[in-house]
Amino acid sequence: MTAQAQTTGANTLETGILVCGAGAAGLMTGLALAQAGVDVVVAGPAPVAANGRTVALFDGSIRFLESLGVWERANPDAASLSVMRLIDDTGSLFRIPPVEFRASEIGLERFGANIETHVLVRHLLEAAQAQPNLRLLPELLDDFRFEADGANARAASGVIVSARLIVAADGRASPARRAAGIAASSSPYGQTALTAVFAHDAPHRDASTEFHTRGGPFTLVPMTDAADGLYRSGLVWLMRDREVGALSDVDDAALARIVERQAHSVLGKMRLEGKRGRFPMATMTVERLTGPRIALVSEAAHVFPPIGAQGLNLGMRDAAHLVEAVLAAREAGEDLGGPAALARYEALRKGDVASRTTSVDILNRSLLADMPPVDFLRGAGLATLASFGPLRRAVMRRGVLPQSGAPLVMRRPEPPRALAG
Ligand SMILES: Cc1cc2nc3c(=O)[nH]c(=O)nc-3n(C[C@H](O)[C@H](O)[C@H](O)COP(=O)(O)OP(=O)(O)OC[C@H]3O[C@@H](n4cnc5c(N)ncnc54)[C@H](O)[C@@H]3O)c2cc1C
Repeated sequence: MTAQAQTTGANTLETGILVCGAGAAGLMTGLALAQAGVDVVVAGPAPVAANGRTVALFDGSIRFLESLGVWERANPDAASLSVMRLIDDTGSLFRIPPVEFRASEIGLERFGANIETHVLVRHLLEAAQAQPNLRLLPELLDDFRFEADGANARAASGVIVSARLIVAADGRASPARRAAGIAASSSPYGQTALTAVFAHDAPHRDASTEFHTRGGPFTLVPMTDAADGLYRSGLVWLMRDREVGALSDVDDAALARIVERQAHSVLGKMRLEGKRGRFPMATMTVERLTGPRIALVSEAAHVFPPIGAQGLNLGMRDAAHLVEAVLAAREAGEDLGGPAALARYEALRKGDVASRTTSVDILNRSLLADMPPVDFLRGAGLATLASFGPLRRAVMRRGVLPQSGAPLVMRRPEPPRALAG
């Protein structure tokens, strides 16, 4: 039993947990719950159209996808990420030499892997279509109601879906979060991310290169090779809003030349492949991650700029921890969406969400600041990282290998071999 949700004659659909949003986070949450035996409906259209956007997923996230049986399908479409290089291109007085993070320094073959976002969603959707206990309802929901003993929402076709718990995985605008009255505070940066995929003739050698510029980071992340054998990389270029208009008007060949120049030709000659994407940058925090009969995950709960590839990795930890909290409730004979399960989820997540959001915000604002004291502090921090191995390794572990406090499914059976400082 699976696939498209069937409704009863009364035009209602009953389930254990209703996941609102069939993006990457919603599909993963639904799959993990259903695989643990919970009856789930995942509602919403899945975003499977290409938009020039990729996600770099770290070790723990890949472990989660492996446990869902999705990594096996997605792996051939993902490129290894073994080196992360930061280059100060701000022109600051306190400019520092490039900093390089190598996965081998913390005993890993690679930090993770990079995949086009819509390709990942497609693999998740295929797995969800084949998953018992999981019904897909490819319609938008509205008219959310949160009661003491359950919650419900109305699908575009008029079907009412009722559940013990609604998981809001419906992105940054999150209609479910709004309906639940959970306050969110958002502040724009005046920056836009331009995204696109480029073929190029010099190898990326599994390395991402992040140039720190005054408009924001300009990052090239390795991808799998093109059909014609050329290498490929994904671009994420944060720039001030006023600069993005000019770039949108240039043709593909001109854009490729501009990007090649901005990258100091580190990847040789470049050619644009497919569409460009534009994403306004903001930071968003919420007052709480839960409310009666609702839990927020991923971008419904936190938004920040794509620096250090933290966004979906954090959202996946939300999903995995939520599943832990729900299963602990089931084990204890409690209500799957009751106060104890929600309190457990809130406690598991709030520290990680707050610390990632704050650190990315500080780094992004330090780049935009163009003030010598701020430049000095940023430069001094990076210079210390470059020259002091133990600190660099600690930062790498914290960035890509959260162990204590990480969801159980993401932990390594044994930590990677400790390397002497
Ligand atoms: C340029 C860029 C680069 C990035 N790079 C990385 C990276 O390298 N690594 C990383 O970890 N993260 C990265 N991120 C962040 C990552 O892309 C996001 O965290 C992730 O895509 C969020 O997924 P989501 O499922 O929470 O939200 P979304 O993908 O926004 O999905 C939400 C879904 O909810 C649906 N929805 C909305 N309203 C309703 C409704 N009423 N009913 C039903 N469904 C509804 C929408 O249609 C949508 O499909 C990047 C982000 C950007 C912008």
